Amino acid sequence: MVPLNNSQFFLTSLNRLIESFRRLPGVGPKTAQRLAFYILKMQEEDVKEFSDSLTDLKSQILYCDICQNISEKVTCEMCIDKTRDDSLICVVEDPMDIYVLDKAGIYNGTFHVLHGSISPSRGIGPEELRIKQLIERIEKNTNIKEIIIATNLNLEGEATGMYLQQILSHTKIKITRLARGLPSGSDIEYADQTTISHALNSRVDINENIK
Ligand SMILES: [Zn+2]
Repeated sequence: MVPLNNSQFFLTSLNRLIESFRRLPGVGPKTAQRLAFYILKMQEEDVKEFSDSLTDLKSQILYCDICQNISEKVTCEMCIDKTRDDSLICVVEDPMDIYVLDKAGIYNGTFHVLHGSISPSRGIGPEELRIKQLIERIEKNTNIKEIIIATNLNLEGEATGMYLQQILSHTKIKITRLARGLPSGSDIEYADQTTISHALNSRVDINENIK
């Protein structure tokens, strides 16, 4: 990344913070500068709290041993929740997608997080994603009746969905895909609740024609 400002006015520590903010999505040089100067004006204990929360996020967060979602326990709250229907697994790319799908309030099954999508141009193949854990989960739990592929509706998300469909086609499990209510090329995390509810309710069986 090109340094924002080489002027000697910018102290090394301040510059470092500005550069850190610039790495965040949607933060341009001006915003990064404004945030860094804002922190400089904050009370010391508030800055410490902010800094600790960043450090704790990385050191205390694990991946759930079942669904691979971020968790503070070995098995996450959703996976131990007996009111959830564990015969359904909704496969998503990122933890953020769970938040969006769950908030729609019409899905009460479980989730599985792949942590990305297949992207040959970025050198990401199936082995870089948590697909192996999904297969193991399916092999262990004979109660699973349906896998809902809820990867994003862009090129990479579709490629990932097709790959999952292929490797799961030999099983008796129903494989469905979110309906086309979502705008093509869009990310689930930006979809509104009505669109998400429609996409879930009208999901289509994608294995029907190959069985
Ligand atoms: Zn879990």
